[in-house]
Amino acid sequence: MYNLKDMTLEEMENFFINMGESKFRARQIYKWIYDKKVTDFEKMTDISKNLRAKLKEIAYISQLKIAERRVSQIDDTIKYLFLLEDNNIIEGVAIRYRFGNTACVSTQVGCNMKCKFCASAVGGKVRDLKASEMVNQVMAIDSDYGKISNIVLMGSGEPFDNYDEVMKFIKILNNPYGLGIGSRHITISTVGIVPKIYKFADEKLQVNLSISLHAPNNELRSELMPINRAYPLEELMKACEYYIEKTRRRITFEYSLIDGVNDKKEHAYQLVELLKGMLCHVNLIPINYVKEIGFKKAKNEKVMMFKRIIEDAGITCTVRRELGSDIEAACGQLRRKYLKER
Ligand code: SAH
Repeated sequence: MYNLKDMTLEEMENFFINMGESKFRARQIYKWIYDKKVTDFEKMTDISKNLRAKLKEIAYISQLKIAERRVSQIDDTIKYLFLLEDNNIIEGVAIRYRFGNTACVSTQVGCNMKCKFCASAVGGKVRDLKASEMVNQVMAIDSDYGKISNIVLMGSGEPFDNYDEVMKFIKILNNPYGLGIGSRHITISTVGIVPKIYKFADEKLQVNLSISLHAPNNELRSELMPINRAYPLEELMKACEYYIEKTRRRITFEYSLIDGVNDKKEHAYQLVELLKGMLCHVNLIPINYVKEIGFKKAKNEKVMMFKRIIEDAGITCTVRRELGSDIEAACGQLRRKYLKER
């Protein structure tokens, strides 16, 4: 069976052409799926009865079930657990910002990147998500939470370890007959898989790129993020320069501050050295405590010291507000809790 939600508009046009139909059917079906949110072929009244019957035989339109929903009492963040067709569980988060509602989506079930501070790393990767499963997270959140205008690929999983499906997902988001969410409203976050950064730069999309840096030297970064052993900072920075040159877009570097680990003055100065002169922004994140790991949030004065040193060097810097701290909204936390309780 073909899942129509796994098809870009172009792929669906070819699908209909191969059936001996007009390629215009793809636009009609796209409208039913993404605009009218219809999943039953019977309701698609501008499609002939004959074609509807044929479609029912060979294709379907998937949806995601919400398995659990946790509403923050502090800040209107909602964390969702979704049940996949094969009974795997993934999570997504809805966040209310002044500029609009943001959906944070997962790209894999679990993750293989083994970052020391991340809850998603604990059980390893189970499998990649299909484009349809990413699209369905957005659609489920949209219908439950309200209109979604921004997407961040910062849930569980490494987007560049599932590159092709993620690109397909972005095409479906972008398409005006699809969800109609422009590239500038989408952010991909990566641990820094260097060959994929080059590939992504060559796509010349206007999608925002975030790099999870978290350490300013190879020794510390390799300890916190094993991917750094394969792609050390020199190579990562070269790839980032290439991305900026190709796209003329600013990169955001994510730096989660861990008490006593990567929050020293010398780390801030090393970070400045690393990023000096680059078209970039730094986002400081007081690390979310994950029970299994034991890392603690950096002290507030350390966060402020980091911010000052970075800004004094002429690099823009923000501190991420903590949202959903009462509902375990950090990376992989809720899924882990659910798996243990199940
Ligand atoms: N694999 C991608 C995207 C998913 S993680 C990536 O690593 O970028 C989204 C962000 O949350 C990353 O910057 C990640 O490093 C960060 N993160 C993971 N665990 C965290 C924790 N316990 N506290 C704060 N940030 C965390």
